[in-house]
Formats: sequence, C-alpha cells, structure tokens
Amino acid sequence: MTTNYFKNYPNPEGFFEAYGGSFIPPNLQKEMETITDAYYSISKSHHFISELRSIRKHYQGRPTPVYFCNRLSAKYGGRIYLKREDLNHTGAHKLNHCMGEALLAKYLGKKKLIAETGAGQHGVALATAAAYFGLECEIHMGEVDMHKEHPNVVRMQILGAKVVPVSHGLKTLKEAVDSAFGAYMQDSDNSIYCIGSVVGPHPFPMMVRDFQRIVGIEAKEQFFDMTGELPDNVVACVGGGSNAMGLFSAFLEDQECKLFGVEPAGRSFDLGEHAATMTLGKPGMIHGFKCYLLQDENGEPAPVYSVASGLDYPGVGPEHSMLKDWKRVSYESATDEETIDAFYELSRLEGIIPALESAHAVAYALKLAKKNPRESILINLSGRGDKDIDFVMEQYGLPK
Ligand SMILES: *Cc1c(COP(=O)(O)O)cnc(C)c1O
Repeated sequence: MTTNYFKNYPNPEGFFEAYGGSFIPPNLQKEMETITDAYYSISKSHHFISELRSIRKHYQGRPTPVYFCNRLSAKYGGRIYLKREDLNHTGAHKLNHCMGEALLAKYLGKKKLIAETGAGQHGVALATAAAYFGLECEIHMGEVDMHKEHPNVVRMQILGAKVVPVSHGLKTLKEAVDSAFGAYMQDSDNSIYCIGSVVGPHPFPMMVRDFQRIVGIEAKEQFFDMTGELPDNVVACVGGGSNAMGLFSAFLEDQECKLFGVEPAGRSFDLGEHAATMTLGKPGMIHGFKCYLLQDENGEPAPVYSVASGLDYPGVGPEHSMLKDWKRVSYESATDEETIDAFYELSRLEGIIPALESAHAVAYALKLAKKNPRESILINLSGRGDKDIDFVMEQYGLPK
C-alpha cells in the first residue's frame, strides 16, 4: 500500500482493480462523465470545501465524539470505543454524503435531487439536504417498503419531498432503483441522481467515500488524543459499505490496525436468508458496476434478508471488493440473534440504543473483545436505534 492510495483508487475509469467501473447505457454514461469532471474540479475549490466544512460544523453537529464504553469493556474485556455517528443530525452517517451530493448539485446548478430508498433512511437524509439547500427532492420507493416503513414516508413528506410509489416486480429496492434511474434519464438537465452508499457506476463509489472520509479523519485524531495510540481493531457494519469506507479510509496505511467489516448473517447461510455478500458471494455485476455479489443460479442478484433493512443489499462497494482480495480488511458476519443481543447490551450498559445495522458491528466487536482482552477496538456506531424500537419489541420483546 502506498501513500498514493487515494490518487490511484479508483483509476480514471472508476476501477478499484477488477471492481467498479461503469456499465450503463451510453446516454447515462455521458451524464456520469459530466458529473465526474464537475466533481474533480468543484471538490477542490476553496468555496466548496469551506461551505461543506461550515455545514458539517453548524448544521450536522460535527465533529461527532469518540466515546469510551466503560461498562461494556468491563464486562466483555478489551477497551471498546464508539465513533458516535448516531449523533449526526437525522441520526446516522448518511447525512455526510447527502449534504455533499446536494452541495455538488447546487454548484452544478441542478434544481432537483432524485434517489431511491429501501428502508427510507437514505430518502430522509436526502430530503433533509434538499430542504437545507432549497432543492426539489423526488424519492422512489417500492410499495412494499412504503407500507413497512411508513414513518419514514411521512418524514420525507413533512420535509417537502415527493415520494413516488413503485408498483412493479417485487415492489422493493431493486425496482425503486430502476424507477429512479428512469426518472433521472428523462430530466437529467435539471436533476441529479444521489446514490445512498459507495455503490453504483463511477463516480459514485469514489464520491460517497470521499464525503464519508471525515468520519475516519476525525476518529483517528480523537482516538489518539484519548489514548496516545492507534486502535488495534477497527470495526464497522457493511451494507453497501459507506460508513465502513469512511472509517477504514483513515487506517488503510496503518498495517498495525486490523480492520473488520461485518455483514448480516441473518437467519442462516441458506440463500435468501442472509446478506453476507463478501463471505458467500462471487464477482458479478449489479446496478452498473462490478463487485462481489450474491447470485442465483442464473448469475442474477439473489434475494437477500437481514433484520437490519439498511444492510440487505446483494452487492457491495467495489472498493471493499478490492480490499477483500488484498486481505487488508477481514469480512466477518453477525447473525440476527447476536445483533439483537448486542442491541440490548449497548442500550443497558451504556445508555445508547444503536441502529440494528450498527448493532452488527457491536456484536462482532464483543466477540473480538472476549478473544483479545488486552486490545483496543474502535467501532463505527453508524446510527441510532429509535427507528428500530417498535420492530424489536414486536419481534423479540424484552430480553429474559
Ligand atoms: C444505511 C445504513 C447503513 C448501511 O449503509 P452503508 O453504506 O453500508 O454504511 C448502516 N448503518 C445505518 C445506521 C444506516 O442507516
């Protein structure tokens, strides 16, 4: 690994070695090239950088703290720390890239933000960014998801976004992506597509990573101020992989820091019962880019499941796919059951209710702490769990 990492990856065509790239229709390809060129010049401008910095400080509530978990460490061993991304405005790391994407839209003179959403978290964060900048916002969402995640539909509407129901196919995330891309193609002069993770065609995996890098930059400095060292272990959950890339990016060149990405093992390792893409997937193609992919017998993206709806994606970011092949990051998994236990442990020992996505990272970190009681562990607490409390109570109830 060289100090030129961020210059070399992705390459100018958007590849992280064999992964990433842009496999989309020619007219969309032209749009992506326009966005790429604009991003390269705008993101280096003093105006853009200082405006984003000011937004992060005065609107989002950055820097978010790093917190030492006293009682959790005493019970499980190790020294466990959390990077508190749950304390971002709107309650998760997603606003880091949504504010960046919306600011880019403003500099490009676009009037409208278009995106898909699965559970609604990305839609809410983007609707928030649109309200802040005075832009229109159109969120495509499967009818099945709209029913399941009704509070987030209401949130988006209160924030002034238009929620477009998608009623074909399985009426969930994949159809919502198709529908949102269709709407964007029809109105690409006025609008910009804002993806929700480090996935999709170039330049999105790079842009979203860059906007999330602030998480790692802050955490590394904060952890060093508190301990005088680097963390022995760095742990984050991986859906598409944006919160993990944000934190890992600061430690990639510190070989003494072990990095762990935690995927959902769901109910079992039978196809359709999990979303452990790195553990069980093979290289393939989804939504215009190459990555590890859970596939059915025809090589099509397989159905996936997780107790945490923010993690159930059959693909994963191309940069993670490369880091897996390099063995720089270890990709592990946590089951639904381990996740629910961790959800309650963090709530009851520290007074912090984690998002079910983030609870996957906590669950794996607790295993690490038991195994290596002398080591330190830095976990990305990507979001807060208020959105999950009704579901947890209905499905699992209080712990015995
Ligand atoms: C959406 C979401 C995730 C998963 O997305 P990544 O791109 O993998 O980070 C994780 N945690 C929370 C709280 C989320 O809302």
